[in-house]
Amino acid sequence: MKSVTIIVPCYNEEAVLEKLYARLDTVLNSLDSYRFEVLFVNDGSSDNTLTVIKSLHQRDSRISYLDFSRNFGKEMAMVAGLDHADSDAVVLMDADLQHPPEMIRDMLIYWEQGYDDVYTKRKNRLDEGVIKRNITEAFYNILQKVSRIDIQKNVGDFRLLDRRCVNSLRLLRESQRYTKGMFSWVGYKKKEVLFQCEPRAAGQTKWNYFSLINLAIEGITSFTTLPLKIASLLGSFISIIAMLFMGWIILNTLLYGDPVQGYPTLMTTILFLGGIQLIFLGVIGEYLSRIFNESKNRPLYIINEYNGRKVTYRARTERDREYLDE
Ligand code: UDP
Ligand code: MG
Repeated sequence: MKSVTIIVPCYNEEAVLEKLYARLDTVLNSLDSYRFEVLFVNDGSSDNTLTVIKSLHQRDSRISYLDFSRNFGKEMAMVAGLDHADSDAVVLMDADLQHPPEMIRDMLIYWEQGYDDVYTKRKNRLDEGVIKRNITEAFYNILQKVSRIDIQKNVGDFRLLDRRCVNSLRLLRESQRYTKGMFSWVGYKKKEVLFQCEPRAAGQTKWNYFSLINLAIEGITSFTTLPLKIASLLGSFISIIAMLFMGWIILNTLLYGDPVQGYPTLMTTILFLGGIQLIFLGVIGEYLSRIFNESKNRPLYIINEYNGRKVTYRARTERDREYLDE
C-alpha cells in the first residue's frame, strides 16, 4: 500500500481546522487504496490551534503534528513537514481551505501515471483585490525574465511531490528560502492541474504588502545575481555619459568662453548619482545579508513537540566531539 503524507502548515488557524478536517476526512476515506498521514505543523500559533490539532490527533490515528517553539514562517513549516514525512509522496496544502482537498484525488491519478511533481495552478484569485493581483502579476513577469529557471505564475505551494522530489528538496538547507523557486530548481517530471482558488474559509490572511515585497526581494535575490550586473552596467553607462559631458564642457569653454554657470545642473547631477549609488549599495547589502545569514548555519526551525513527545536537541559542543573521538 502506498503511503501519502499531507503536510499542513498552521498559524493561528483555530477557526478553520475542524472544517478542514471534515473535508479532508471525506476525501481520504474515499481513497482507500492509500495509507494517509496528515501532518499538521503548528507554526507557533498564539491562539488555540495546537489544542484543536491535539484533539484531532486523539480522535484520528492518521493525524500527527509538529509544534514549533515559536513562529518560524510558512516556508520553515513546510521544510519541517518535508523532513518528517517518510511516505511515498507528500501533498503540501494550506490550512484555510483555499486549497480544496478534493484536488488530492486528481493529483494522485497523475502521480500514478508517473509524474513526480503534480502542481496546481489557480484559475483565478477571488479573494484578492485588483492591486494585489496586478502587483503579483508584474512580479512574476520580472522574475521570469531575470532568472534562468522557470518559475510558474499563479502556482502556489499546493502540490503533490514524489518521494524523490522530497528527498532532493531536503538537500537544500538555505535559511532564506523561496520555496516556489526550489520546486523548479530540483526539476523532475512535472504536471500542471488547474483549480479554482476559493476564498479563505475563516480567519485572516497572514500576508500584508510588506511581506509580499519581502517575498519578491527574496525571490529575486535567491535566484539571480542580475541586480549586481545591472549595477555594473549602469555604472559604466553613466561614466561614459559623464566623460562625454566633460568633453563637451571643456570644448564649450575653450571655443566660446562660456562662463561657468549651472548650479541647478550640478545639484541634480550630484543628487541623481548619490541616489543611484545608495540604491546599489542597498542591492549589494541585500546579497551581503544573505551571505551573513547563511554563514551562521543555524537549524531552520526548532521543534517543541512531535506527536505529544517533547523534543530535546542534542547539543553539539566541543566536549561532545572530544568524547566521540575516543
Ligand atoms: N502560515 C504559517 N506560518 C506563518 C504564516 C502562515 O504556517 O507564519 C500558514 C497558514 O496557516 C496557512 C498558509 O500558511 O495554512 C497560508 O497562509 P495564508 O492563508 O495566511 O496566506 P495566503 O493564502 O493569504 O497567501
Ligand atoms: Mg490562504
